[in-house]
Amino acid sequence: MKDMRPEPGLYVTATPIGNLADITYRAVEILKKADLILCEDTRQTAKLCSAYGVETPRAPYHDHNAAKVRPEIIKKLQDGAVICLVSDAGTPLISDPGYKLVRAARDEGIAVYPVPGASAALAALSAAGAPSDRFFFAGFLPAKQGARTKALEEFARIDATLIFYETAPRLGAVLSAMTDAFGDRQAVVARELTKLHEGFREGPLSTLAAAYGDAPPKGEIVIVVFPPEEKAAEAGDVDAFLTGALAEMSVKEAAAAAAEAFSMPRKTAYARALQLKGAG
Ligand code: SAM
Repeated sequence: MKDMRPEPGLYVTATPIGNLADITYRAVEILKKADLILCEDTRQTAKLCSAYGVETPRAPYHDHNAAKVRPEIIKKLQDGAVICLVSDAGTPLISDPGYKLVRAARDEGIAVYPVPGASAALAALSAAGAPSDRFFFAGFLPAKQGARTKALEEFARIDATLIFYETAPRLGAVLSAMTDAFGDRQAVVARELTKLHEGFREGPLSTLAAAYGDAPPKGEIVIVVFPPEEKAAEAGDVDAFLTGALAEMSVKEAAAAAAEAFSMPRKTAYARALQLKGAG
């Protein structure tokens, strides 16, 4: 496997989030061919390497040694090394170490290659059934209550599905704080994704908060919160829209346009358009 040497550079390599089979052919190949694998926890990555016959040397790169070892890593990359960066699970840099290394590599003109794969945030979003056209990844909330409340108040204004990482013991308290900040929006608690005890539980935030407050779950968790409900169309807005439309089109066409614009029943729009036409 060492025959075709990859281009030198830093390969940001995603690994499984539970199910060991969730790794790409390309990730296995680059892990085998690299000169070095930088690991958040070398023991954790050792399991993955042994499952796939990867014998590449491993070295730790985590929050506690990153500042110290980064210059040595950059030097190796400048000398033409092929280095993979992995985290314990999922995609590096996504609530995991690596940002400063990628930044430093780019600042030095070193090539950085993504080797994409699993990430708990996208796995949860893909199966939760929440609107997925626009989403905001919020990662972990601050542990301290004051900072958490402030962060949630900021997130409440975002018109998109929100995705959070959370730990099991804090789940009940966090769902309850979310109910206060967001109102009783619909949400999904996604647990142990791709693992034996995978599970999705959907409901209003207050219901989920009560359920998990009484019985904290085990395992790893992603919380997916639906976007704020669309503001119901104001009667005045609909009338103004219909009046404008009626000046240019038939009652039927104006009603159809209003129904689509305000996500309202066609019948209702038609009845109101008729009234306005009669009044005009
Ligand atoms: N880099 C990882 C990724 O791409 O998903 C995330 C690392 S972060 C330190 C760990 C958090 O991700 C966990 O506390 C949990 O919120 C979430 N997570 C990771 N694996 C998960 C899984 N299998 N099921 C549910 N959540 C998971």
